[in-house]
Amino acid sequence: MTDSYQPETLALRAGSVHSQFHEHSEALFLTSSFTFDSAEQAAKRFIGEEPGNIYSRFTNPTVTMFEERLAALEGAEQCVATSSGMSAILSACMGLLKAGDHVIASQSIFGSTVNLFNNVLKKFGVETTFVSATNVGQWRAAVRPNTKLFFLETPSNPLTEISDIAAIAAVAKACGALLAVDNCFCTPILQKPLELGADIVIHSATKYIDGQGRVLGGAVLGSKKLMEPVYGFLRTTGPTMSAFNAWVFLKGIETLKLRMEAHSANALQLAQWLEKQPNVARVFYPGLPSHPQHALAQKQQKTGGGIVAFEVKGGKAAAWRVIDNTKLLSITANLGDTKTTITHPATTTHARISPEARAAAGIDDGLIRIAVGLEAVVDIQNDLARGL
Ligand SMILES: *Cc1c(COP(=O)(O)O)cnc(C)c1O
Repeated sequence: MTDSYQPETLALRAGSVHSQFHEHSEALFLTSSFTFDSAEQAAKRFIGEEPGNIYSRFTNPTVTMFEERLAALEGAEQCVATSSGMSAILSACMGLLKAGDHVIASQSIFGSTVNLFNNVLKKFGVETTFVSATNVGQWRAAVRPNTKLFFLETPSNPLTEISDIAAIAAVAKACGALLAVDNCFCTPILQKPLELGADIVIHSATKYIDGQGRVLGGAVLGSKKLMEPVYGFLRTTGPTMSAFNAWVFLKGIETLKLRMEAHSANALQLAQWLEKQPNVARVFYPGLPSHPQHALAQKQQKTGGGIVAFEVKGGKAAAWRVIDNTKLLSITANLGDTKTTITHPATTTHARISPEARAAAGIDDGLIRIAVGLEAVVDIQNDLARGL
């Protein structure tokens, strides 16, 4: 498929779509291995002289369809699908870093990603410096001779801080480091980090790409050259995407554009309503003019996305009152689902960090995160109004 098609067309048609049977809907190849016509063909496949499937830890046709389609949407040469978002980040790091390398990461990244850098990679001799998501000067100041990778996530969770991808990519380029962007919150429908100068895109497909809260998966995308060691790590160690999950994601991708536009429209409407509620101290949403990086968000993203955070007056007790008075919204930490979810970050996703670190990160005890779903906005508002 060429780049000339629009995203909604690529989402339906990009990549290989059918086998010798010419099935119209993408087939699910539930098979762990593949057979060969002869010993010679097996030998050629194993040494890479002949393309083709061998074993589903290496490649699987359904997983390949998912990889080709997501690569077309992100504008990437290659996509490597993984068993989860975390194994995508792990595979990227294990493929591209070695002992003695240094990483600069935004301090506003997913909690498990912080643990991966601080606890796992550190054991293998990779050191990480955490800097502000929004202050480009801090990224420049943190550069060391052995800096290999920059890592960020934008918008951030839960405060929707926006990192300037192009500006941070320029700093990375100047010091010969790679920039990886976790594009989970926007998806390629709203933001294309590779076009802005990033080298690698990471996905937790678990979120908006599935979009219906069913299965876990992830992806790493970039040039063929960069993806070769990432794929090599995966093929050897095994955190590959299952064929079944790839099939679910393929169906999810088909409606990604429609969903992202609808999530964004609902989120903007809810954020505007929240700003008018007397018991709400502050609303965090990139689509609001009151957002500190509204102008950057408008330049970098197509819309504000589906995540809204807000601070209730009265701290934890007030926030819990709002959550416990909902009847419709799902109290869960997941996001990117068609069903709206509500989370109290201070006591769930960010509970394991110290109160001081939480305060420094701007996570107030009154903060609530909403991953706005596709219900009627008026029903979401009425559900929140009870506790507010
Ligand atoms: C959920 C999430 C991850 C981790 O993905 P899993 O699929 O849960 O492993 C990584 N980054 C972001 C931004 C996430 O929201």
